[in-house]
Order: sequence, then C-alpha cells, then structure tokens
Amino acid sequence: MVGIVIVSHSRKLAEGVQALVQQMVQGAVSLALAAGIDDPENPFGTDVMQVYQAIESVYSEDGVLILMDLGSAVLSAEMALEFLPEERRHQVRLCEAPLVEGAIAAAVTAASGANIEQVIREARGALAAKASQLSGINPSESAGALVSAPISAQSQVIHLTVRNQMGLHARPAAKFVATASQFQSEIMLQNITSSSGSVNAKSINQVVTLVIRQGNEIAIAASGADAQAALAALQQLVEANFGESVADVRGGETPLPEQPQFPISNSQFSGIPASAGIAIGNIAIYQPTVLNVQQQADNPEAEWQQLQTAIEQTRHQIQTLRHQISATAGEAQAAIFDAHLLCLEDPFVIDRTRQLIFDRNFSAAAAWKSVIDETVAAYEALPDSYLQARAADVFDVGQRVMRSLTGTAPASINLPEPGILVATDLTPSETAQLDPGKVLGICTVAGGATSHSGILARSLGIPAVVGVGAELLRLQNGTLIALDGETGEVWVQPDDTQLRELQAKRNRQQAQQQALQAAAQQPAITHDGHQIKVMANILTIQEAKIAVNTGAEGVGLLRSEFLYFDRVSVPTEEEQREAYEAIASILSPHPLIIRTLDIGGDKPLPYLNLPPEANPFLGWRGIRYLLDSPDLLKTQLRAILRASHQHSIKVMFPMVASVREIRAAKEILAAAKTELRSLGMSFDEAMEVGIMVEVPAAVTMADKLAAEVDFFSIGTNDLSQYVMASDRTNPKVATLADPFEPAVLRMIQQTVTAAHHAGIWVGVCGELASSELATPILVGLGVDEFSMNSPAISTVKAAISKLRMDEAEAIASAVLQLDSAKEVREYIAGQLKT
Ligand code: PEP
Ligand code: MG
Repeated sequence: MVGIVIVSHSRKLAEGVQALVQQMVQGAVSLALAAGIDDPENPFGTDVMQVYQAIESVYSEDGVLILMDLGSAVLSAEMALEFLPEERRHQVRLCEAPLVEGAIAAAVTAASGANIEQVIREARGALAAKASQLSGINPSESAGALVSAPISAQSQVIHLTVRNQMGLHARPAAKFVATASQFQSEIMLQNITSSSGSVNAKSINQVVTLVIRQGNEIAIAASGADAQAALAALQQLVEANFGESVADVRGGETPLPEQPQFPISNSQFSGIPASAGIAIGNIAIYQPTVLNVQQQADNPEAEWQQLQTAIEQTRHQIQTLRHQISATAGEAQAAIFDAHLLCLEDPFVIDRTRQLIFDRNFSAAAAWKSVIDETVAAYEALPDSYLQARAADVFDVGQRVMRSLTGTAPASINLPEPGILVATDLTPSETAQLDPGKVLGICTVAGGATSHSGILARSLGIPAVVGVGAELLRLQNGTLIALDGETGEVWVQPDDTQLRELQAKRNRQQAQQQALQAAAQQPAITHDGHQIKVMANILTIQEAKIAVNTGAEGVGLLRSEFLYFDRVSVPTEEEQREAYEAIASILSPHPLIIRTLDIGGDKPLPYLNLPPEANPFLGWRGIRYLLDSPDLLKTQLRAILRASHQHSIKVMFPMVASVREIRAAKEILAAAKTELRSLGMSFDEAMEVGIMVEVPAAVTMADKLAAEVDFFSIGTNDLSQYVMASDRTNPKVATLADPFEPAVLRMIQQTVTAAHHAGIWVGVCGELASSELATPILVGLGVDEFSMNSPAISTVKAAISKLRMDEAEAIASAVLQLDSAKEVREYIAGQLKT
C-alpha cells in the first residue's frame, strides 16, 4: 500500500491532519509525520532527518506520497530524498496538493489499494469539489483571450495523455512548440480534459495557456504535407514525457504550495517565501528605467525593419545570458531562457504586432508594447498561480525588445555596497545578473513562489521574500530591514531581540548548510577505490568561493570571457593578472584551468565589432579569432603566465580543430614567455597547456593533438552540436544536440583512448559532466576529471561513490552500442534502479 508522509512546520497541525485522516480510514493506511523541531522555545520548523525517517517508516515498493505545508517544508522534503538510496528515491513523490484535503483524498485512495499515480491524482484533485462549489469556474474559460482557430476538416488528429509530473509547464511546452515548429503543417492543440478551444501549437503563449496538467487528454491536429511526420514526432515527445525525469522536475520548477496571505505576527510586513535564508541589511530601492513610447508612425516598413533588428539584438542578449547561467547555475536554470527565446519568435505575438504596424500605423514600440501587455494580461488572468507567474517572463522579453527599440539602457542593478534589494518586481534577467556578494536579500512587491526570478534567486543562494505590501517602496533607502526567506516575514528596523533571534536562526541554518557541504568536501572515490577529480566551471571570483564551498577540487574551466563582458574595451594585462590571481588564491592549493577568450558563436562581444556571420558557430570564433588577433591573445597569455608564478594554473585553448592551430597558439605562448623573461618577470616554466576537444576534427586527430599538449578537456556542449550538425541555440534543432547521442559518446571514447595512449589526462567540462545519468558512462569511459557548475558537484560526487569501475565500464560499453540518446537514458535509468 502507498504510504503517506505529512511534512509540516507545526507538530500540532500535523497531528490534527493525522487524526482527521484516521477518522476517515480507520487506521487502514500507513501515515507518518515529520513536523516541528526539537526546540522548546521555537518549535516551528522542519527537519530533513525527520522527513527521511518518516519516509523510511512507511516505505514499501508501492511508493510514498509526501504532502508538505510551506516554504522550508518543501526544501526539507526535497533534501530528504537525497538521503534515500537511488532505487527508493524514484518511488517517493512530492505532491503539491493542499495539506488537509490532499491528505484525506490520498489516504482514502491509498487505503483502497490504488497505485501511487492514482493516489497522487486524487490528492491533486482534492480541491476540485470545493472550487466548483464556491465558484463554478472552469480553468480553461479565462484562457479565452489567446484561444483561437477551429481545426480544419482535412486535419489528421491524434489523442494523447500527458503523463509527466507537472504537465505542460514552461519547459515541456517550449519543447512541444519547438518540435511543432520544425514542420510546415498547420498544427493545432486542444486540452480535451478541460474542453478548451484549439490553439496554434507553434505558439508558446497559446500552448501554455491551455493549462495542460498531468493526466489531461490532449488532441493534436495537423494538416499539410508533413502532417504525419509532425504527429509522429509530437507523439514521441509526449510519450517520452518531454525527456523529464522525476528528478528533473524536482530540481527545476516544482511550484511551492500556495503561501499564506494572512499577516504573520511580529513583523511589519509579510509576503511569500521565495528563497530560504535570513538576510539583514540596509535597503536599496531599485527603480527600473521608464520607457517613453511614441504612439504613431508614418513609415510602417521602416518600423517593421526596426522591430526585426530589435528582436535580433534581444536574441543575442538572451543567448549570452543563457550561456552565463548555464555555466554558473546549470542547464535547468538556463532553460528558463529558452522559453524567452521562443517568446521572441512566437507567431501569435509577431503577427499581431505586424498587424498593428501596417493596419493601424502604430510605431514598432507602441505595437510591440500593446501586444506584450495583452499577452501579459492574458497570463495574469489565468486561474493557475503557476501560469500567472509566466507573465513575468513575457514581460521580461517584452522589456528587452522595448529597450532596444527606444535605445534605453537598462537601469543598473548592482548595489554599491552589500544590502537588501527592494523593488516592485524583478525580471528573471535582472535576477540572473545579481551579485550574491552584494545582494544579501531580495524583497519585492510583486511575484510568486513559482516565479522564475524565485528559482534563480534560489540557485544564487540569495534569500528572497516576494509579494510584500507596496508600502515597502515608501521606505527610505538605507533603512535597516531583516527578512526570513523561509517564512516570508520582513522586519523593518528590527529591535535587538528580533535581531538576536534572527542571527541565531541564521547561525543554525549555516551550521546545517556546512554539514551538507562537509560531505561534498570528500574526494570522489568509486567503491573499488578509483579516485576521480571533480572540479567546477566558473565565470567570476564570486563563483570561485561558491565552488570551494560546494566541494570543487579546483576549477576545470574558467570561462575567461567574464573579464571581457560588460565593458567598453579589452581588459589590460594587469587587470587580467589580478583577477586570475584572486581566483587562484581562493582555490589554492587546488588548480585553476583558464580557458583563453572564447568569443563568437553565441558569445558576442560588442566592442570588438565582429561582423555578423551567416553561420556564427561555424565562423570566426574561439582560437580562430585569437590567432587572427595575436596581440589580444599574447596579452591574455602574459597575464595567465604571470599569475602562474605563485599559483597552480594551467591554460587551455578553445575550438581547436587542427594541429596547425595549437602549434600557432603555442608559438604565441612561447613569445609571451620570452618577453616576460626579458623583463625579468617570473612565471611557471612548466605550466601545463591543454586544448578543449569540442570539434569533431579534434577527435579524429586526437592522437596527433595529444602529442602537442599536456591534457584534453572535452567540451560536450559544442561537440554535440558539431557532431549532430545542430545549432545548440536554435530551439528548432537544439534537442538534436544531445550529448547522450551514442555518436557523441563514441567521440568521447575515441578522445579518451587517444589521450591515455599518449599518456595525457582527459577531462569533460561540458554540461554532460554535471548529469548524474552520465556519471557511470563517463567513469566507465575512463574520464579522469569532471568539471561542472558548482550546484551539481555534491550529486555527482555521491553518484561516483556508488559505482564500481567494472560496472561502469560495462555500462559504458553497452551504451555505445545503442541507437539513440533516448535509449541511452532509458538504459542508464534501468541500471540505476537495479
Ligand atoms: C563546451 O562547449 O562544452 C564548453 C564547455 O564550452 P562553452 O559551453 O563555453 O562553449
Ligand atoms: Mg565550447
């Protein structure tokens, strides 16, 4: 029988729920509580180990359903799952259903012997009766503003059931739209379960507003020459659950339960807890720039062209930001910006804007603003709080295009000194750019717990409370406030007692955090004693500190682009040396691998005025650009060499495709060394030199290249897109650039074999290294070093420690014989279960 765990801040509340449940099912269900903490003075809270023990006490192969109250209850439940053995973890499901109604519905269903899916479904539907009794609202009704067109009589139609845990939330919807967009046929989508109208399946906004949830039946209709192929591709995507595993959903966008709207005592303000942690500091109020828009224009063609240019510029900005976030916070967080990219090319938005420009003589800015406002309002009118939060994403993209059209620079969001950022709202882009060293906490008037800004704040470790009263904005800059991102409380000018209590709580949280980090500080050693280095990919000095705290044994990839972004000219040798030394000192005694500047492709650098190219990824990027700019390269190499004097530093070159290129780069390195010697400047004469292996030519020439360098670092992000010939930033084909494709895995194998044969070590620093599913493959292929975004380190270290070399080798050789990335993932998931 399915077991049930109730996680609550209050022991009394949980016991009350338990009593109600037992009255319904007369003890016929296994139910355990994890509620309150062992502190007589402040008994409210949740404890990870309690949750873990509760799960174990009701665990059976039928699974366990966990219901939580709010804030840290969700975090504690998520963390408790990490303690479970892999095979058990998959049987334990977190459920966002309301605590009281959900527990009763789940218990009654579990007691009838139903399986976990049925229990979850019933728990989730627990509010339906109350909702219809009180309002009679059908969720699809208010999506009307965006819902359109009938299905044509010539269409072929398929009916499918959506099975992934969160239904078509932002990321699966983005994949759905990207797949539909690959086909010429007209494709319409309908939510049969909610009797919605049919919408254009190529429109992200229309698809998301259908509110398609797990268990909903959908109809997809296609008409046109490739209708059959389109339906087959969409069917495959839906049946593969959009490539989501339970873990993916948990790690990314799992919405937290609705938060209390009532004021919490002892606080001046209360809001929605969005990112756990205590922050105490002076406030800095952020005012975004106001955009002035001219309403009418008399040359529609010119306006239309301006809009195209603005959209193109915005696409570049978002791609750069996506790149940075992927490097620092991971792919799940970066994928938020895929939906932004799709929004930019949404046919619904573009067509409406075009109409206003050509039919009503609107200026480009006025037309765009009008359509974006309309789309934002349509999202806000939806009955589902999770989908309402998507309005902020559309607004964010809209603002970027507006700024480009009106030539308005974004207001600076960097605080001069550490403090708490207070704002009406923060867009995901704004949040992504915050410096956790300066922004101690975030407090906004708008926003919900499921906003992408909240997710990004959590990944940056910045405590946040959102949805706080607008009075907050009337406070003076510099006012002392404190906030608790776990409970949603905000104190204005807290008194000494409140400050003492908050500091004590912050100390307790830090101690808990330190205990978790301590486990990740251990080396990654397989069961049979094979040690693998686990390093971090970083961009900034700030991230070097995070890397060390999360257990990195050095930095395997410093994307040195960070020094070159956000400025108007190239950084000097001195500036670079200082930055590299600062990072190396933080990491000491662990090594720092600096990748020389890698621009071009999806990483533009405006002040270098690189000409637009038809195929930027096949163009003037990486080492190609560097070799054509020898002074720029030599300056960077001199800075790296000088930093290597008293630090453990290695250098590597990006995008190497031929022996000629690495030899040319080494010549410039030799020239830099000669210059430094003649100036009497010290450096590490034996500094190791490596290359990124990310172009198929480098793989096939790996034996020759290995003779030139001390190490290889495989960049699976680029390698996948080049092996599969699919632009990793183009949503229409990006899913093809999948590092789990056996074609890519075979390339990794060839590279490792060639490297080891030549006696050099080889690492993987692409996103693949951070995937727990890929760990057995990479270990089995013989990879010596993994380098990844810091948040993934503890999970990958734990995954390594569960492996034995012979098992990993067997897994690696098996997956190389499979046919597709999908088969590889299924195979590994099967192996992890057994
Ligand atoms: C890669 O291509 O895998 C890589 C690590 O480099 P980047 O993502 O910076 O291009
Ligand atoms: Mg690369």
